Amino acid sequence: MPTRPTGRPDRRTFAIISHPDAGKTTLTEKLLLFGGAIHLAGEVKARGQNRRARSDWMKIEQQRGISVTSSVMTFEHGGVTFNLLDTPGHEDFSEDTYRTLTAVDSAVMVIDAAKGIEPQTRKLFEVCRTRNVPIITFVNKVDREGREPFALLDEIADALALDVVPMSWPVGMGGTFEGIYDFARGQVTLPGDNDNGSFDGDVLKAEGVEDDALAQRLSDAALEHLREEAGLALAAYPEFDADAYLAGDLTPVYFGSALKEFGVAELIAALSDFAPSPKPQPTADGSVDPDAPAVSGFIFKVQANMNPQHRDRVAFMRLCSGRFKRGMKLMQPSTGKAIAVHSPILFFAQNRELADEAWPGDIIGIPNHGTLRVGDTLTEDAAIQFTGLPNFAPEILRRVVLADPTKTKQLRKALDDMAEEGVTQVFYPAIGANWIVGVVGQLQLDVLISRLQVEYKVDARFEDSPWNTARWISGAEKDVERFVDTHKSQIATDRDGAPVFMAKDAWELSFHEGRNDAIRFTAIKERA
Ligand code: GDP
Repeated sequence: MPTRPTGRPDRRTFAIISHPDAGKTTLTEKLLLFGGAIHLAGEVKARGQNRRARSDWMKIEQQRGISVTSSVMTFEHGGVTFNLLDTPGHEDFSEDTYRTLTAVDSAVMVIDAAKGIEPQTRKLFEVCRTRNVPIITFVNKVDREGREPFALLDEIADALALDVVPMSWPVGMGGTFEGIYDFARGQVTLPGDNDNGSFDGDVLKAEGVEDDALAQRLSDAALEHLREEAGLALAAYPEFDADAYLAGDLTPVYFGSALKEFGVAELIAALSDFAPSPKPQPTADGSVDPDAPAVSGFIFKVQANMNPQHRDRVAFMRLCSGRFKRGMKLMQPSTGKAIAVHSPILFFAQNRELADEAWPGDIIGIPNHGTLRVGDTLTEDAAIQFTGLPNFAPEILRRVVLADPTKTKQLRKALDDMAEEGVTQVFYPAIGANWIVGVVGQLQLDVLISRLQVEYKVDARFEDSPWNTARWISGAEKDVERFVDTHKSQIATDRDGAPVFMAKDAWELSFHEGRNDAIRFTAIKERA
């Protein structure tokens, strides 16, 4: 395995972003096929335990045909270890997805060749852009009829304001698909003789599109078309520039078919060759280099109640520096306490045994009873405090109504727990007892109701709330105090006690924004 000069083994920690149905799951499976161990966080945790909560989630997953839980998967190829952080595909779970994107160094953007850039692709892309996460694009499903490659490339460039560089080119699409041309290698990967025409490793070697060797296997029409398009493409797009890619200004584009395994090997090679190693991570007063000796990491996700009997939870930590060893004591600056990490779940192991060490870029699952929260830093060096894990303003606000009013305490505990997981937010109005939950999508409300019943034995329902939008407010202490005092009926606090302004609609919000220059209204709350 390649190591850094300091002896640190290299990692590629990445996520796949896409709109539902573009082929993320299929591509993930194919990537894992090329690699070794497959570790689903849910499986590791649920082994030999009560699976009720999990199967309940699965029920929702099946009914809706979507994937709710997210997991960490690791595979190796060509001596490089890849950590793939899966993100829930459904747009309702975007906050969780956004958080996961804070823990990766790069992303693969999967686009359906027939659909181009879709709303969820664009949203996730914007998150990557704000964090300068470099992106490799995979245009999927070229085995089916799709849009013209030029139209797709131009759409990516225009919609996302990015330079695009085609690294490969489809030789026809759908019924006329004859393979994929690789610009750098000058060769074409060909459909196999198997029943469904998937890639079986058969490659037609050539030296560029003009090479007559290509005529052996490609039809005259396809070859002529390829030559014409490849010539135009070379003239129209810039050459690949690794620095521009790393800066997030340029995306290399690979065409392929996850289903038929075209372009998957090229994608892995691209990740290995171009995608960044673990990067320095931002802290309150600078950044931490992955080669720094002290172990440090941050929690980007908490999954609670995998086992409802024990109220256990797993906090997912991205390791940012040092060499983690099992049993290590790490400081938690938010509480000033130290935690001994005796049973970390290390997803990169070849099997399910607990492994003994982990390196920057790896993800560790830490079982705990609620002490670890999203945004927390764990470190040997108490001076380190990672920043930048965002909370997003919810798009749907609902009042929670209890069927049995004596269960208020349980409800509060449940809502706090789920807010802590980051799949929902909870707001406690300054006046009145109508607690408000905020989510980014309708589906989360269904999940909430179901989990309240199964995990907390609380029957509740949601009613419309008078508010439709929420903003965190900040500013000089006296300004915030004055604003809070004069707008009491529209103020709530979030789980951390931070003040939130609730408005009926966007118009009302902008009215208050306009009249209160000293107050900042933000849709994103970053934990300091
Ligand atoms: P996800 O929602 O992004 O995870 O998408 P899936 O991987 O579940 O794929 C959605 C649908 O597209 C499934 O029916 C897949 O079989 C199909 N699909 C995925 N990749 C390809 C591809 O390369 N070619 C074709 N023809 N279908 C594909």
